[in-house]
Amino acid sequence: MDCLFCKIVEGTIPSNKVFENENILVFHDITPAAPIHVLIIPKKHIPSMNEVSLEDLPIIAEIHQVAQQVASELGVSESGYRLINNCGPDGEQTVHHLHYHLLGGARLGALTGISSSHQ
Ligand code: 5GP
Ligand code: ZN
Repeated sequence: MDCLFCKIVEGTIPSNKVFENENILVFHDITPAAPIHVLIIPKKHIPSMNEVSLEDLPIIAEIHQVAQQVASELGVSESGYRLINNCGPDGEQTVHHLHYHLLGGARLGALTGISSSHQ
């Protein structure tokens, strides 16, 4: 399948891994938007939030457990962090394999919603 994150899961494209188990992979974002910026992905190819099915919910729950663990390992549990899923064009989703951004290590500012380029 021609999917960037499936290739990262397969190892044909390298990544800087933070965590891996049977279902989930966590790696550093190539263009960090904060001092801590990792991507948490299911190994299963799910194109976006829109395609998450009932049978996927255990993996979604596990992603929350992994986010909690990775946040602790990266030292941002107490300082805080943000877990973000971008979905579809208005969500600015660019990679069509479900992923959650975990951002931290600095005050991130309030979510403003509409960016100036789209107003
Ligand atoms: P999206 O905009 O779809 O929510 O997020 C996709 C993220 O994937 C972006 O933050 C982007 O920097 C990251 N990304 C794109 N290509 C690569 C890559 O080859 N390796 C890694 N580690 N991250 C990537
Ligand atoms: Zn994929």
